[in-house]
Amino acid sequence: MKVAVIGAGLGGLSAAAHLVGAGHEVTIVERDSIPGGRAGMIVADGFRLDNGPTVLTMPNLLETAFNACGAEMKDYVTINPVDPMYRAVYADGSTLFVRHGREAMTEEIRAFSNAKEAESFGAFCDWLEKLYRAEMDSFIDTNFNSPLDLVKPWKSGLELVRLGGFGKLGKKVASFFEDERLQRIFSFQSMYAGLAPYEALALYAVITYMDSVEGVYVPEGGMHMMAAGLADAVTDAGVEIRYDTAVTRILRRSGGAVTGVEIGDSDRIDADVVVCNPDLPVAYRELLPGVNAPRSARNGKYSPSCLLWVAGVKGLPPADASHHNIHFGKDWDGSFKALIDDGVRMPDPSILVTLHSLDDPSLAPEGHSSIYVLEPTPNLSGTIDWPKERDGIMGELRERVDALGYPTEVVVEEIYDPTDWERMGMEQGTPFALAHTFFQTGPFRPSNVNRKVPGLVFTGSSTQPGVGVPMVLVSGKLAAERVEQYARQRYR
Ligand SMILES: Cc1cc2nc3c(=O)[nH]c(=O)nc-3n(C[C@H](O)[C@H](O)[C@H](O)COP(=O)(O)OP(=O)(O)OC[C@H]3O[C@@H](n4cnc5c(N)ncnc54)[C@H](O)[C@@H]3O)c2cc1C
Repeated sequence: MKVAVIGAGLGGLSAAAHLVGAGHEVTIVERDSIPGGRAGMIVADGFRLDNGPTVLTMPNLLETAFNACGAEMKDYVTINPVDPMYRAVYADGSTLFVRHGREAMTEEIRAFSNAKEAESFGAFCDWLEKLYRAEMDSFIDTNFNSPLDLVKPWKSGLELVRLGGFGKLGKKVASFFEDERLQRIFSFQSMYAGLAPYEALALYAVITYMDSVEGVYVPEGGMHMMAAGLADAVTDAGVEIRYDTAVTRILRRSGGAVTGVEIGDSDRIDADVVVCNPDLPVAYRELLPGVNAPRSARNGKYSPSCLLWVAGVKGLPPADASHHNIHFGKDWDGSFKALIDDGVRMPDPSILVTLHSLDDPSLAPEGHSSIYVLEPTPNLSGTIDWPKERDGIMGELRERVDALGYPTEVVVEEIYDPTDWERMGMEQGTPFALAHTFFQTGPFRPSNVNRKVPGLVFTGSSTQPGVGVPMVLVSGKLAAERVEQYARQRYR
């Protein structure tokens, strides 16, 4: 079949890899000049600055996408483990290095906290592993047709109940660790799903599994290289990628099945199937006039957003800095309440400082560094007036980063606030999509198909299974499975 894929984000690239591998004729239409979408990169003044994801987990899922189009990942991108995975700096001045591998981390906890907590780490990892096994095949790597599909894998469902997956994440993590600092480092990952640890279900600890147990990795040449490598691999497998080309409409046969995509005012690409990678609610609004987005996308709860500052700077980081540095604020529950419930800036923000050039000198000229600072903020449903308040907030952030000892003399920089994410096509100005509340997850998350538009399939972070690099790679695979189902129905 002829397939047009709108967007060369990781979701679109993954779908294209699976589709070309299955023998389809695939064209990707991408409005930007480079692949990757949110996993982008700024190249300027000798710096290569990542401006999207910084924490790569589950590289096996990336490898699956390469293999799907007959390629070997190692021929396109080299992925190395990061160790320490995080340096966590707490408000009381204490520092925990989150180490790669169970044994190293157990010893770290023994030195940082005590022997009992170190023992608990083993039990915690065992629990996470069981949770992951119960969830991955039955609830994540699967296409749902209705909520009833949730009860089909009843054995996995019972296992999740037995493991306490439907209790609250914060409480579950606290049942393993007394040390509040450890509770934070093993539950903050719920933020990646747009939720506070006190409200997230324990089953979202699967994200903690992905980084704390499976480990954090980084591609040589920057995070963007995973997308650039995958784009090269699908091209070598026969996919055509048309850059600098925005799709303006999804074309349909008198209100029914898709017939292709419109480019600009008059050009078009004919296709039997359209795979759509832009943020789902935006795609419905802008590319599919007359078709309503699912209710959860229109009225749903969106994840908090972020203020992102990426810069090429003069000088080198302090000697004790790691690749990923989390500087926790004093308050914990109150910070999440501010962000998620009250829609205001955290009173004492926790921030992530990533130093990509620390392990990869090719990313910055000699004697210089790349610095990436992310402060979680409310999305545009919050109360911050960004055009008015951005300079003040950025001023405070720069001062803080400087006081923490990082180099801040800027050679080149970019700043992104929620209004920028919205301009780039992300609903409610958040790059983290619909939050993973229970009723916005699995079969309740907007479906990757719509019965009213046969031949249209979605991929990416606002459809199933969800947000983040591992999930959107899986969403590409699930989208390709939907295309196969459609082909079978059509030619039956
Ligand atoms: C600052 C930041 C930090 C993050 N940190 C992490 C992290 O550490 N770990 C992690 O796993 N995830 C992280 N994420 C989330 C992760 O990057 C995303 O979930 C994922 O990259 C989204 O991929 P996608 O394919 O769904 O969408 P996108 O990457 O947004 O791809 C959509 C593509 O469609 C294109 N497009 C849109 N409209 C059109 C059109 N009309 N015509 C043609 N093309 C179009 C876009 O240009 C884009 O290339 C982060 C994201 C950001 C921005």
